[in-house]
Amino acid sequence: MPKQSQKSLLGSMDDIPIAQRDLPNSSPRRSPWLILVGVVLGGGAIAAGLAFWTMQQPQPTATESEPIEAADPPDPVENILGHLPYEEANPDDLTAITADGSIRLRPAAADRWVEMVDAARRDGITLAALSGYRTEAEQDYLFFEVKEQRNQPPSERAEVSAPPGFSEHHTGYAIDIGDANRPDTHLTVDFENTPGFQWLDTNSARFGFELSFPPDNPQGIAYEPWHWRFVGDSDSLETFYRAQNLPQSPASP
Ligand SMILES: [Zn+2]
Repeated sequence: MPKQSQKSLLGSMDDIPIAQRDLPNSSPRRSPWLILVGVVLGGGAIAAGLAFWTMQQPQPTATESEPIEAADPPDPVENILGHLPYEEANPDDLTAITADGSIRLRPAAADRWVEMVDAARRDGITLAALSGYRTEAEQDYLFFEVKEQRNQPPSERAEVSAPPGFSEHHTGYAIDIGDANRPDTHLTVDFENTPGFQWLDTNSARFGFELSFPPDNPQGIAYEPWHWRFVGDSDSLETFYRAQNLPQSPASP
């Protein structure tokens, strides 16, 4: 230790009022410096003893030790037949976008949906909301009941419908959209040939919406031109892009 700092250390000790340095009934005063040295040496001895004792102890076996996270490859994102898991939105945090209240979205998505419908109307397009937020129970019906009615195996059903717990509709950010003037194309690939779809294709990004399952999407879900999701704020963006985590990215080494 340089002389200067030794001096200042001692100096600072001398600044301690006498009353605090002299404990009642204390044995003859020791130099504070000696006490400090004693404490350091004593602590070192304890540490050395502890290290020696530790070395004598049996080492934990592999089964007892915690797995080393850094050495493990990242877990692949859980998915079922290409569908990713999503939490149900809080039903109290939804806004109706139809007069009868049957179709609901998260407030941020609902606001932008209304703006988008108005903008489309000014261009002579009438967009129709066909489906918004769904509970897991509703998705359970759509997946399993309809699957049986249509005599579909799960892999085939999953190309067009998500299993319960794995639908973007649970989030309150996904919406099935139709062209009100072409109800015959609702929820069919033919929707892509309507003026409504063409308008969405050109304008939806301005309102924070994007197609979830374009042709040849990495999740392997069938092309759904009617199914859109809101990604226009941080929460919705994280909801969908964190869920993907891109395990299927072809460019990853
Ligand atoms: Zn949908």
